[in-house]
Amino acid sequence: MRDTILQATAADGTIRASVVISTHAVEDARIRHVTSATATAALGRSLTAAALLSAGLKENQSVMLRVLGDGPIGGVIAQADAEGHVRGYAMHPQADLPHTDGRKLDVGGLVGRRGMLHVTRDLGLRTPYHGSARLVSGEIAEDLASYFITSEQIPSVVALGVLVAPNLSVLAAGGLCIQALPGARPEIVDALEARARRLLPITQMMSTGRTIEEILAESLGDLHPHIGTTTPLAFYCRCSRERVEGVLLMLGAQELEALVAQEGRAEVTCRFCGDRYVLSDDEVRGLIGKLEDPVPDVM
Ligand code: ZN
Repeated sequence: MRDTILQATAADGTIRASVVISTHAVEDARIRHVTSATATAALGRSLTAAALLSAGLKENQSVMLRVLGDGPIGGVIAQADAEGHVRGYAMHPQADLPHTDGRKLDVGGLVGRRGMLHVTRDLGLRTPYHGSARLVSGEIAEDLASYFITSEQIPSVVALGVLVAPNLSVLAAGGLCIQALPGARPEIVDALEARARRLLPITQMMSTGRTIEEILAESLGDLHPHIGTTTPLAFYCRCSRERVEGVLLMLGAQELEALVAQEGRAEVTCRFCGDRYVLSDDEVRGLIGKLEDPVPDVM
């Protein structure tokens, strides 16, 4: 099943629904960040949640989710844009905990049950839109649902799942979000919430071969969804050598001189994707040269 974000509406546009399949993106993130089983689930749920939050974004807009709890993972950051790109990292990717009594990955314990969930939407305006809510359980889906109601006043059903194999690879990952917009009939909202409690976990629905449209239909019951856009999803980081050089230039000539004197090179690792950029002695001196060049007179 390909990684996809599916958006839909139902009940004359008063119900908004998104389904995300993110297995490959989460597996990519796991390999890049060498995450423990529980950290894979925490990061995977966060990446999937960011993809759900990205529904409705337009070109050049993005959304950042930060789950900052008091657990051993130390915080999880995920970002998604309108093009279906997600990227993210955990502060302590190797942190892990034993399974819960129910033999489940203890994501709530790893994230921590106390802390904050922050959502920042960069809509290309002067200031990004920021909202936050206290964590409820650290399990991320409940925390995001709580964020939607307390910060955005949108009653929402959120489900997130990451199924990790004994060899640590990701077997399935996905999520869904159903929201009641102003004007939604209360009996429809009640029926959706009741239905959500009976739904199979999304990874189970995926592993029994249901298509993304079938998962959507099953979540909405007898409401007939109007399918909107379908966007391919992938782990993608926008870091590049040029951006790394830009960051190094901001250090200034003196700092860069000290760096090459000490290390003989500059090494930068992107937090979001783990890619490593190494600039040789000569390359750093080239950057210093740029800083020392007088600004060309174009007049
Ligand atoms: Zn990167």
